[in-house]
Amino acid sequence: MVDMKVTKEKIQEVLAGYDKKNLRIATICSHTALQIFHGARLEGIKTIGICTEKRRKIYEAFPLGKPDEFLMVDDLRDIPADELAEKNAILVPHGSLVEYSGDRIYELEVPMLGNRNSLAWEKDRAKMFEWMKAAGLQVPATLSPDKIDRPCVVKLAGAKGGRGYKVVHSPEEFYEHFEGMNVTIQEYLIGVRVYPHYFYSPLSKDGYRASEGKIELIGIDRRFESNIDEAYRTEKAGLTFSPSFTVVGNELLVIRESLLEDVFEMGKSIVEAADRLFGGIPGPFCLETVVDENLQFFAFEVSARIVAGTNIYPQGSPYTAYIYGEPMSMGRRIAREIKLASKENKLAKILY
Ligand code: ATP
Repeated sequence: MVDMKVTKEKIQEVLAGYDKKNLRIATICSHTALQIFHGARLEGIKTIGICTEKRRKIYEAFPLGKPDEFLMVDDLRDIPADELAEKNAILVPHGSLVEYSGDRIYELEVPMLGNRNSLAWEKDRAKMFEWMKAAGLQVPATLSPDKIDRPCVVKLAGAKGGRGYKVVHSPEEFYEHFEGMNVTIQEYLIGVRVYPHYFYSPLSKDGYRASEGKIELIGIDRRFESNIDEAYRTEKAGLTFSPSFTVVGNELLVIRESLLEDVFEMGKSIVEAADRLFGGIPGPFCLETVVDENLQFFAFEVSARIVAGTNIYPQGSPYTAYIYGEPMSMGRRIAREIKLASKENKLAKILY
């Protein structure tokens, strides 16, 4: 487990020096940044985009999605925490930010949305499975190389968007490709992939209760992965290929209404297990699940932050339509929570 280099007390100290009337939202220009900046703009919060020269033109191309201010860096791994703190910034972690910063994320002396401890739990696959099991979720079996007796997906360490993953069927096939490598071997789940996006707010009990607050179902996606998701075309074209799982994009999914109870209960259990294990997960989180032919959910990943699947609905999803009478994206929901917490003097509850 990583050593938390910056304490919660230190972050509260930094926050105490903030001008609460001029809070800003900051993130790295990547992953879900357009949505985060767009959402903050709708809520009237100014934004800072940590950016490289090469990327800047991409963000400039979207006047409503670009940050109010660019903070230029040579390398996205170097987040200028001091400068952000001087500007009253709250950092919103997303997949790229977590991946680029590595262990440096635990040193940044700037308030971050959510609980930094959760990032350590989602990064380490063994810990992540401990968390999902503590929540009572059904998960795929994890096998050691010599015990491979069924189709398994072999995963490289870290969030790589599925890159380099491979399906193997036997110990021999495993050793041929992954001998000596740091990988996880997981039973291959057969079914429909369902990736629900949640928001946990400890500030209100008005909704689906979880822990001291409520969870909202903000949306659901499914991914397009190359080349597995267009496999039928490749096969029809008479080609043979080895399946790969590199994420290329996402599409919206709406599930049978009768499955919503399971979706909410999984989210609630994940929040409550996070409370017990490491002090909770205020803010956005997501599960990656497969639903089998018996309508059973199996979870193989939890992300304690905003996920890229939420980029599908900057103007709101088929689920937020029933919660908010206005367009509500995950980016906007984040900004609204920051606004609400600031107004109620409860920022300490949602930041670390
Ligand atoms: P990210 O952090 O972006 O979610 P990752 O590198 O952690 O990516 P996973 O999400 O674990 O990768 O897996 C990538 C893809 O591989 C999934 O979206 C899914 O399609 C497939 N996959 C992963 N685990 C399984 C499994 N146990 N059974 C079947 N397919 C799986």
